[in-house]
Amino acid sequence: MNIVFDEKRALAVFKILDTEWQAKRGVFADIVLPQDRLRLPGNNEQKVNFLFYSALFMRGGIISEDPFRWLVALCDKRPEYYNPTFIVNNGLTSDDLKKAFLAITPEILAQNGLVKGRKENGSGQPFAYKIEQHTKAWIANSRFFVEKFGGNILNVYDGVRDFEEAFARINLRKNSWKKYEGQGIIGMRRKIFSLFTIWLQEKNLIPRFPTPIPVDFHALRVLWATRIFHLPDLLPLKIKDWHPKSYEGKTATQVREKLIDAITQWSQSFLFENQISHLVINPALWVLSRDLCANHFQNSTAGKGTILRESDDLISGQIRWPINYKNPCQICPIEQYCEGVAPAAPYWGILMKMPRVPYFETMVQTVLPGLEEEASSFLRKIRRRTKK
Ligand code: SF4
Repeated sequence: MNIVFDEKRALAVFKILDTEWQAKRGVFADIVLPQDRLRLPGNNEQKVNFLFYSALFMRGGIISEDPFRWLVALCDKRPEYYNPTFIVNNGLTSDDLKKAFLAITPEILAQNGLVKGRKENGSGQPFAYKIEQHTKAWIANSRFFVEKFGGNILNVYDGVRDFEEAFARINLRKNSWKKYEGQGIIGMRRKIFSLFTIWLQEKNLIPRFPTPIPVDFHALRVLWATRIFHLPDLLPLKIKDWHPKSYEGKTATQVREKLIDAITQWSQSFLFENQISHLVINPALWVLSRDLCANHFQNSTAGKGTILRESDDLISGQIRWPINYKNPCQICPIEQYCEGVAPAAPYWGILMKMPRVPYFETMVQTVLPGLEEEASSFLRKIRRRTKK
């Protein structure tokens, strides 16, 4: 797949995000990231272990805050389960872990009404069908760390010059990633391992060496919408049997490892060369997408993701903006660079982009002096997940 990066645009967009994030302004005011809501356990080694096993759960269609509730509760009850050496020496199995998660579940569900930073009251199945995979990876990776790194996860980072060097130490296999053969960790590739690395750097548990953006759905959405990357050879989507008919012919791509890796590797060198911190751009993209883009009408769908808010239909008046629509782009700091929308619904393997229709062509798109109060009241109304 041919991926082209527009570095001039990237620099312009990242500089704006950097300035706004540092100033804690607009959408970035009063942010508390899910990992910062946590009460981390004990000493540094315990913190690293907890963050590593938690990172395993940060994939698929989950709300990041949900698995943390289970992971924190399990750590309170069974802190030894977060120690690779204990797991191996005591021959723990994935069934032991599953039982432990099940045992704490009623207690967590009973707290649903008290959950902060959650859209609804919290789901009862934050791991969904992946619990099997996660717990197997938990056990296999414990073995890997014990055999290759003396049971100390921090040894992975010993003396590394950049993220890629650390990643090469945990990703030794060439072909098979499904089976543990002592060839690397499982359930964690560049996206999640870079997220874990960033958590460690944020908490000063490892040095701040060049590191990429974790390329998740939110990063992909913003980077594609702003044309920081584009895919010149992309053909209109040919749907398969299981795809909704409305996806036929859309600008869409399968999210494959090759795409993620290319963006990941580009972002590491680009950010480093331009001295822009991944510790800023990573959360800035994530918060922007979750708290603003997600509220764009065209990023919503109906009919369980099958009915799209198509640009032509909006422009022709065939579909209308919702009554009392609160336009998130009005207060978006990078609105001038954004051309597309990427609805979350088709993300199961497919990333789709449609032209973004501005709400009102004539609407003032930035917050003008004197309108800060209105903008902040607008933000209070639309933001619901990441705010304090
Ligand atoms: S302009 Fe709108 S859709 Fe584009 S990045 Fe900003 S909030 Fe998201």
